[in-house]
Amino acid sequence: MIHIRREDEIDLIRESALMVTATLTEVAKMLRPGIATKALDTMAEQFIRDHGGIPSFKGYGGFPASLCISVNEVVVHGFPSDYELRDGDIISVDCGFYRNGYHGDHAYTFAIGNVAPEVLDMMRITKESLQRGILQARAHNRIGDISCAIENLCYTEHGYGVVRELVGHGVGKDLHEDPQVPNYGRRGEGKKLKEKMVLAIEPMINLGVKEVITLDDGWTVVTADGKPSCHYEHTTVVRRNGGEALSQFAPIEAAERANPELHTGHLLPLSEASLA
Ligand code: MG
Ligand code: MG
Repeated sequence: MIHIRREDEIDLIRESALMVTATLTEVAKMLRPGIATKALDTMAEQFIRDHGGIPSFKGYGGFPASLCISVNEVVVHGFPSDYELRDGDIISVDCGFYRNGYHGDHAYTFAIGNVAPEVLDMMRITKESLQRGILQARAHNRIGDISCAIENLCYTEHGYGVVRELVGHGVGKDLHEDPQVPNYGRRGEGKKLKEKMVLAIEPMINLGVKEVITLDDGWTVVTADGKPSCHYEHTTVVRRNGGEALSQFAPIEAAERANPELHTGHLLPLSEASLA
């Protein structure tokens, strides 16, 4: 069933979503070549618990960590590990925060050092597609309007692989609720959106083919062709004139700009980027 939330519930979801933003901002400050990805997870779990929260992902279906850390060809659900980040890597960090009965779910992809221009382009376009999806999250639209906006920009306009096996979802009292929110689909199809539905909208976009493979650990999803993939996600509430993101990118982006180890080429406006 699809939940319609009261404003006081939405406020609690917003609080949790903004705590994910704060956690990802702390991650952004730590990122550099040479750091082991499990150090990010250790910090994040402590940060979440210090703020009275529970990491939504830890133990969820047996997932072993507080962050999903997915480097380069890993699409989503990577485990934090001893792997030390290298110049040229991209790293997707997905995090959930649970407090006062409600979850926030939010993800961001970062560029470490000298990342290839075509990869930065993919990151920027994917982030833009999330914003276009959020614009469609308005009452009386349908799920397919969100899906189609993302697919049109990422695949139709730019030829990126749009992952099909993994989708966005409702979020609130449970981390994953109805409805599913695919990143591909047709305008005007799917369930009707109503004000105060809360959705995690989360394009997972590949530089190459859309096909993915799940590794033997049962979690780690990688691109079939080994090319990089990125992932941006906002917890979003459906409003009358368009979605309202409850999580925020601005604090994360400010930390990116302040960290000289990170490439901020994917933050350029589209018009400037196309000149490069
Ligand atoms: Mg997530
Ligand atoms: Mg999600």
